Amino acid sequence: MFDYLIVGAGFAGSVLAERVASEQNARVLVVDSRNHIAGNAFDFYDDAGILVHKYGPHIFHTNSEKVFQYLSRFTAWRPYEHRVKASVDGQLVPMPINADTINKLYGLRLTCHEVDAYLTSIAETRDSITTSEDVVVSRVGRELYEKFFRNYTRKQWGLDPSELDAAVTARVPVRTSRDDRYFTDKFQAMPLHGYTRMFDRMLAHPKISVMLNTHYKDVKNEVRFRELIFTGPVDEYFDYCYGKLPYRSLRFDHQTHDQDRYQTAPVVNYPNEHAYTRITEFKDLTGQKHRKTSIVFEYPCADGAPYYPIPQPQNAALYQRYKALADTLPHVHFVGRLATYKYYNMDQVVAQALRTFEKIKETSPAKAERHDETVEPIVLNGHGIEAA
Ligand code: FAD
Ligand code: UDP
Repeated sequence: MFDYLIVGAGFAGSVLAERVASEQNARVLVVDSRNHIAGNAFDFYDDAGILVHKYGPHIFHTNSEKVFQYLSRFTAWRPYEHRVKASVDGQLVPMPINADTINKLYGLRLTCHEVDAYLTSIAETRDSITTSEDVVVSRVGRELYEKFFRNYTRKQWGLDPSELDAAVTARVPVRTSRDDRYFTDKFQAMPLHGYTRMFDRMLAHPKISVMLNTHYKDVKNEVRFRELIFTGPVDEYFDYCYGKLPYRSLRFDHQTHDQDRYQTAPVVNYPNEHAYTRITEFKDLTGQKHRKTSIVFEYPCADGAPYYPIPQPQNAALYQRYKALADTLPHVHFVGRLATYKYYNMDQVVAQALRTFEKIKETSPAKAERHDETVEPIVLNGHGIEAA
């Protein structure tokens, strides 16, 4: 009998596995349908020996000291401040838009103060900021919106920015300073030995068993458990009873080139001229020295693994119907980007998992340490799994 069955070995599942095992002395089984832990943050050494992120660039940043301190138990860090360039009108310019972006694009030499005045003069007035188009045109006007945001967003989401919640493009600020960092969070760093190594250490607790290549449906009737923590898609859990929640997917084209550097920035965004949205060069993110370089192109698509919940009012309303069902199940906890249908960054998922643990503790107190209890191996027989 397990105390917890946890579906998904990404941030949500792994943080909760570690918490309930370490703090509650609970016996935990983590299953993941993929052949690896770490969820979308999974990284590995490719054939050339370069550390790459299988599911696109994952850059850690947070303002939460609590989240940063918690993860620091499982990894040392490499300080890293992310920078992005956008390919616009045949030039590579800083993204987010800042004073240098404007000056380079238009051949100007405006001061930061003048850039502020310039943006104010071209901004469109909007009565209310509801959509992703409103956010941008009310700040930088239509021309810059079209150069940097409209087509990138159409590619990324298969939707016009006017159809998406304001929060999507609001993730990317506009600056009148010369600060060219993508993020301004207090903590910005990459796990020194990569994400997967950090997850290895999180899941190394003797009370945690991990089964890969195992879907929830393979074990749900085979394993006995008290509580379920589900980090997969919430609509899948309920057999799509209210219909499918839409997700946006990506196709990743990983390449290795026999040259030291491929591009002049860690990430180059392509708002307009290509089917892909961005190219990432991994050595920049990880600091690895290597005579070759590995990169990834991201091609957004409709079908495939569910990477992005799509922030639109009708999807939020559909999610609320699933959440109402979820709330009727006191022994099932829905956590993470897919299970709560939220466009969350890694740190937000860690924070959500830590909050969930605090709630779980209230209803399910820690077990006393039992020295006679050893973790038996899980036996996979022809019929399923026997938990000893
Ligand atoms: P996941 O990482 O998706 O983990 C869920 C796991 O559950 C998966 O491994 C899946 O295989 C498993 N699973 C699902 N259903 C089942 C089932 N029925 N049975 C068994 N297993 C199941 N965040 C940042 O902070 N910075 C970034 O730079 C960043 N870049 C990103 C780039 C891309 C391209 C993407 C897609 C996301 C990015 N993110 C980034 C977001 C980040 O990936 C997520 O916030 C985080 O990984 C979510 O963790 P999670 O545990 O909720 O979900
Ligand atoms: N975006 C854009 N142009 C860019 C970068 C971002 O239009 O050069 C928009 C796009 O809609 C994107 C959103 O802003 O989905 C959020 O960007 P972010 O870089 O945070 O996306 P993520 O890393 O989550 O894919």
